[in-house]
Formats: sequence, structure tokens, C-alpha cells
Amino acid sequence: MSRKKINNKEAVGKRVCKKCREPLRSTNSYNYCDNCRRERAKARRKTMELCLGVSAVVLSIVPGVKHFVNKK
Ligand SMILES: [Zn+2]
Repeated sequence: MSRKKINNKEAVGKRVCKKCREPLRSTNSYNYCDNCRRERAKARRKTMELCLGVSAVVLSIVPGVKHFVNKK
């Protein structure tokens, strides 16, 4: 008579990092652990820099193109 009681609620309530499955602290309101969040922030910053670089290139090209198109 030792039926194992599976506590699903606890399993669901235990939050783990979405990326590395590391258990999260209860104070953590994110779905990722500190390490993964740092990595994500780094990746995001890189993407931002890339976007800024691209838009800077585009912005430097557009005036030239506009000038060229408006020339009549
Ligand atoms: Zn993680």
C-alpha cells in the first residue's frame, strides 16, 4: 500500500530555465536563469549594434539616392 503520490502541482510550480533547465530561484520572475539572461542580453546588444550599423549605412545611402531620384 505504498502508492506513490505524484504531486503534479509541485512539478509544474517548480520553475526552470527555459534554455538550460537550471532551476530558477523563486525570486526570479523571468523564465531564464541569470546566466542565460546575461547571454540573451549580450546577443540582443549584438543584434542591436548590427541593426544600428545597418540603419546607419541605409541612412547614409538614402540621402544620396533621394538626391539622385529628385534630380530632374
Ligand atoms: Zn539558463
